[in-house]
Amino acid sequence: MKSSIDHPFGMHTHNDSDCGVVNALVGVREGATQVQGTINGVGERCGNANLVSIMADLELKMGYRCLPKGNIQYLHDLSHFVAEVANIAPDEHLPFVGKSAFAHKGGVHVAAMRRSAQSYQHVEPELVGNKMRVVVSDLSGRGNLLSKAEEHGVEVEGEEVLPVLNEIKELESRGFSFEAAEASVTMMLKRQEYGYKPPFDLIDFSVNVEHRDKRGIFAEATVKVKVQGELFHTAAEGNGPVNALDNALRKALISFYPQVVDFHLSDYKVRILDSDHGTEAITRVLIDTRNSTSRWSTVGASTNIIEASWRALADSFEYGLMVAH
Ligand SMILES: [Zn+2]
Repeated sequence: MKSSIDHPFGMHTHNDSDCGVVNALVGVREGATQVQGTINGVGERCGNANLVSIMADLELKMGYRCLPKGNIQYLHDLSHFVAEVANIAPDEHLPFVGKSAFAHKGGVHVAAMRRSAQSYQHVEPELVGNKMRVVVSDLSGRGNLLSKAEEHGVEVEGEEVLPVLNEIKELESRGFSFEAAEASVTMMLKRQEYGYKPPFDLIDFSVNVEHRDKRGIFAEATVKVKVQGELFHTAAEGNGPVNALDNALRKALISFYPQVVDFHLSDYKVRILDSDHGTEAITRVLIDTRNSTSRWSTVGASTNIIEASWRALADSFEYGLMVAH
């Protein structure tokens, strides 16, 4: 299109009316040869125009070339690198590069995606270095779980995922939420696999929390675990009940699975559901764990916070042992 403006010009837009990107794009269409903005739209007030979206739109939607050929595939990494350096948690909902930008949840929706990826995708996520993600929740259908199983190399097919789907629906009605706990979903699928043997069986546990003069609050946990036919009965202290359980479980597993040394609980989130019930409310616990190569999230829910934490913790170790040999 021929420019309606005679002089060379550039665009410098901000996002005060949520139009930073679109105004920059209109400027280019009108002949602007330079666009100013910031990666991820970081900037004062509501931010500058987000260059990541501008570059993706110009190249993938409007037929302009603004990066060396092929470099558009690094947008996802660029966005995460800048977030990391700026110490800002990556925004999962950023267009093109956010973790949720190509996430699919509804059952019908995922079933359609499995037949034709174009049905709900405006561009191929790989073009900008992102990937499609299937989220599992009570809105899911069989397709969501089959996609999840394929993603993790779990060998279940067709009807075999139905018990897991029913279990997810049942557990979500009791306060679990699997959206942010993909490792728990993977373990539920894995347990359906023919011949799967869990790396350990939990027999029971107990936790004691005490407050003592001079020492303050501390906790002691004991766990009874069967590992490859052998029964372990271990005890450990911690600064709180979950920490003590974590330590006791590690102690029981370490001689068979030395890789547990490398598992670190990186986040522990507690949320009280149906808060009208006061201290009898259901508590949901999400645990994020990482090792040197990956990170994973698990969930537990119960009216008892220790029980909820224990479930999330046990899933975390089981999953970690599956992926870290
Ligand atoms: Zn400015």
